[in-house]
Amino acid sequence: MAGRVDLDGNPIKPMTICMIGAGGFIGSHLCEKLMSETPHTVLAVDVYSDKIKHLLEPTSLPWNGRIQFHRINIKNDSRLEGLIKMADLTVNLAAICTPADYNTRPLDTIYSNFVDALPVVKYCSENGKRLIHFSTCEVYGKTIGAFLPEDSPLRQDPAYFVLSEDASPCIFGPIEKQRWSYACAKQLIERLIYAEGAENGLEFTIVRPFNWIGPRMDFIPGIDGPSEGVPRVLACFSNNLLRHEPLKLVDGGHSQRTFIYIKDAIEAVFLMIENPARANGHIFNVGNPNNEVTVKQLAEMMTQVYSKVSGETPLETPTVDVSSKEFYGEGYDDSDKRIPDMTIINRQLGWNPKTSLWDLLESTLTYQHRTYAEAVKQAMSKTTAN
Ligand code: NAD
Ligand code: UDP
Repeated sequence: MAGRVDLDGNPIKPMTICMIGAGGFIGSHLCEKLMSETPHTVLAVDVYSDKIKHLLEPTSLPWNGRIQFHRINIKNDSRLEGLIKMADLTVNLAAICTPADYNTRPLDTIYSNFVDALPVVKYCSENGKRLIHFSTCEVYGKTIGAFLPEDSPLRQDPAYFVLSEDASPCIFGPIEKQRWSYACAKQLIERLIYAEGAENGLEFTIVRPFNWIGPRMDFIPGIDGPSEGVPRVLACFSNNLLRHEPLKLVDGGHSQRTFIYIKDAIEAVFLMIENPARANGHIFNVGNPNNEVTVKQLAEMMTQVYSKVSGETPLETPTVDVSSKEFYGEGYDDSDKRIPDMTIINRQLGWNPKTSLWDLLESTLTYQHRTYAEAVKQAMSKTTAN
């Protein structure tokens, strides 16, 4: 850890980071790397701590004293301002961010992604503290190309689908498509943070993650989350594979996504944390444009990789089609395609993703199998016995 320097060769001073949402998927990976590779201190704020338990105990861990857990719901806790004041930097990850909630719990979604983030922005601005705020690639909504005729050659032109921070519009569906409650709330908090920067000098960075996936993402229904819960696609498909049931393709699985390995993405956040002069005032796409697949192709790849890591033969019919209304309920809609423009993050931080989709699926599904296969087997045999 000695002699660590930033991208401009300046020594990096140890800092205190108030991380809100530290107990979630991204937060757990960020905390892990901050503890093992830097001298920084983390004030970890969340309502849950299961995913960072291994970092908090026992007290003999080499980073003992550098991570403190604060069980705080930021909706209603006056301790938040004190923690932000104690820190040099606040990283805000807290959010409701599973699509199954956007159309079924739109009020909670809007409150969580906009209203609850307001005090965080205000305390940072009023106390002259730096803020790294997690937004989403979903603020882009649909691509311009989605509105072209199916057979238009322009659909192949990157100008109609590549999503760039400083040029692409944000295109959402009508209000009754409550899917967009999340994207719209995230867009408004981005605009507010940007305005705090412009009018009051807030030092901010906004991160737009493009489908970060890896170990510890979400939960497996009925094992470490509610039986009726619907997590994001990696956990939904993992759950199907663990239970030896067909993977459900929503509306045929035609939507396209680019998936990035959590460990690659965390490298980008590290560069932002430790290079404020290069990161402040910027909005960054963080994704892997080389890992694009349709959801149907993702299902096929995960089936193949899971068979390799578990030794189980795939089902003869590994996927089944399901309508979005049946799967998510009324008001669901979808982003058609998400390819991140990497120009700004390349120029400012020299960062590039490394891991291919095959490699990241292999390490992630190895983890899923090792962590959950036995518990799923036991839960299934209990259900059969009853
Ligand atoms: P996550 O759900 O695993 O983590 C969010 C954490 O915030 C959870 O641990 C939750 O308990 C905590 N939290 C929520 N409300 C809180 C409150 N009121 N008080 C205290 N803690 C609270 O999600 P994640 O995948 O780690 O995402 C983190 C951030 O990144 C979110 O803002 C999300 O919108 C954004 N994001 C992630 C992805 C991705 O690919 N994972 C994609 C787009 C955007
Ligand atoms: N999806 C699917 N089957 C599932 C879960 C999700 O076909 O079991 C689809 C979903 O409709 C979307 C894509 O997978 O098109 C990615 O969904 P995710 O929940 O990961 O989040 P998003 O990328 O839409 O934010």
